[in-house]
Parts: sequence; C-alpha cells; structure tokens
Amino acid sequence: MIYLDYSATTPINDEVLESYIKTSKQFIGNPNSLHKLGLESKKIIDIATEQIEKILNIKNYDIIYTSGATESNNLALIGYCLNHKNRGNKIITTKLEHSSISETIQYLEKQGFIIEYVELDKNGRVDLFDLENRIDDKTLLVTICGINSEIGIIQDIKKISQITKKKNIIFHSDLTQLIGKIKIDFNNVDMFSMSSQKIYGIKGMGILFKRKKIDINPIIYGGKSTTIFRAGTPNTAGIVSTSKAIRLIYENIDKNYEYVTKLNKYLINKLKELDVYINSNDYSSPYIINISLKNIKSETMLHALELDNIYVSTYTACSKEDYSKVIYELTKDINKAKSSIRISLSYQTTKDEIDKLIESLKINIEKLQLK
Ligand code: PMP
Repeated sequence: MIYLDYSATTPINDEVLESYIKTSKQFIGNPNSLHKLGLESKKIIDIATEQIEKILNIKNYDIIYTSGATESNNLALIGYCLNHKNRGNKIITTKLEHSSISETIQYLEKQGFIIEYVELDKNGRVDLFDLENRIDDKTLLVTICGINSEIGIIQDIKKISQITKKKNIIFHSDLTQLIGKIKIDFNNVDMFSMSSQKIYGIKGMGILFKRKKIDINPIIYGGKSTTIFRAGTPNTAGIVSTSKAIRLIYENIDKNYEYVTKLNKYLINKLKELDVYINSNDYSSPYIINISLKNIKSETMLHALELDNIYVSTYTACSKEDYSKVIYELTKDINKAKSSIRISLSYQTTKDEIDKLIESLKINIEKLQLK
C-alpha cells in the first residue's frame, strides 16, 4: 500500500499507541474524583499538559482538550463571539479555511454576525494591507488558518498577529496542518487549534490553546473537565498520548522538514513531465502538493490510483461540495476545481513510493483522457 493522504489523517505511531494503552490500564480513576485513583489520573494529566506547554514554548495559555480540531475551531469561534457580541459583530476570515471554520462562521452569520473575507494575492497569501484596512470598531475576531489543507499555502502568522495586536483584536488560527511541521512562535496567536490524528496521535482528540486572559463560553456544558471551558470526563489516555505525539513530532521537526522538502522537489519535477497543472506554489508547505488534471475528474483518478493500491485525496475529506472551493477561489477555473488531487507527504514517504505514484498517474492519465 502506498499511503499519500497524511494531511487527511496519519497512522498512529506505535509508541503513542503504547502510551495510550498503558495509561488506560494504569490510570483508571476519573481525574475529578477526590480519591487516590482520581488524584493519580489528575497528576498524569497535569504532567502531560506541562510537557505540551514546554515543547510548544507557550506561556499563559489555557490548554483545552477537545475531540479534535473541529471542536476546537467551533469552541474558539462560537465560544468567543457569542460571549463578546456586545463588543462588535464583524468576523474577518479567508476563503481558504477548512469546513470546520467556514461552516461555523456560516452558523455565526445566522446569529447576526457579519463576515468579511480578506483579499488574497495570486499565491493565496493574505493581503496584509487589506486585512489592516478591514479591521474597524465593530471587528470582534480574525480567524486565518496557518496552512491551508488543500494546497498547503502557508500564511505569515507573525505579520498577521502584528496587525491584530496593533488593532487590539483577537486572532485565532487553525494550525491543524502546521503543528509538528513548520516552526512558528505560538505566542503570537491568541487562540489556536490542533488535532492529534494529524501528528500520528489518536483520532478523536484535539486541543484549543487560548490565552488565559481571553474569556470564552463553553459550547459543551456539564461541569468542569480539565478546564471550565469544556465539560466531560477527561480523556486521560488521550491527553497523555497526545503529549507523547507532540513530543515525538517536535523531536524530529527539522529533520522531517528537510527530508520532505527534498521529496517534494523530486515529486514536483516528476509532475512537471506529466499533463497536469500544479496548483501548489512557492508558498505551499512541502507536505502538501495539489494538482489538477485535464479532462479527468478528481474522483475518477482517485479510484484509478486506488486500484494500484495508492491513496490520495480529492479535496479535503471533510468538504461537502463536488468541487474544490479553494482551487476555484485561486484559479477561478471550475474545471481545475473539479479535477484536483491532493498528494500529502510524510517523513515515512519514500522515493520509491513517489516513483510508483508517478508511474500510475502517467498510465492513468493516458488511459482516462482517451475515454
Ligand atoms: N482543520 C484543518 C485545517 C484540517 O485539515 C482538519 C482535518 N481535515 C480539521 C480542521 C478537522 O480536524 P478533526 O477532523 O480532527 O476535527
């Protein structure tokens, strides 16, 4: 099997799984129980939380454990906007966001919030001048993803945060595709979201990081969990194994980046020899390569590759549309948007796998374009 869909989800790391199983067996108490077993579970969670803080080098943040980046994004946006609606009603975002941001924003629009989309340049990068101009007295929140999940465009988080700081506006960023891949100073972002399953951790586990001084409402009620912002019995093994996944991925972040960058260049050069458009650009993460096919639908190619045991994505696995809104936004070409394929790489990807993908793409393009 050749798995090239690491941006959709990653296979669990053996050590992370081991830590999940060990913690589940060893720490059976509810961390909020007052007896010894409860206190032991609480202690292991506190150690894991401190470790996350240390690895990500963040200070004065609440670490709110959730069921994934989808919930983290919902909590950041709904939890903040509904709590501060008397201060303003404008939310600024981009057309590059994952559905867990864009659909949450659509919900907030129905609640009376005004949504504005910041201009993008031809490479899909936020126009910083336009962003600054849009922020006014009514603006409540800016939410811009760190790396877009389809084409992999990396935004300049530092420069965006300098603008939001200057204007005294809260900046949330969906960093699901960035954490563990590209180094940034997280202290520039007021709230940010991540998902364990994207960094070889367990599925159904995420975090919302929130500057302590920012007040948000919970969206899931029912008492204190590890924080007052999210109810439910704490997921002790999920938390401990997430901390492990973060530690393991950050131990090798530079080495992985260098390796994947080389693979990316190799793949792009091979793709240039095929009859495809390359949608990713110089500002894309090396981990994500997006192409559009000519006269072949994404899904047709996805299944053709599958017959060769090669797994890629069409647009994001979570999208409801039958075309890529992001590719359309950037190219204004519906054919490109209906024929895009995302190849996502990992430190586990080999050159041999890339060669096999290219071989299969080449044969299938010739075969399917004839039909
Ligand atoms: N944001 C981005 C950028 C993503 O790529 C994903 C996963 N596809 C999510 C949010 C949602 O993550 P989860 O499914 O773990 O909730």
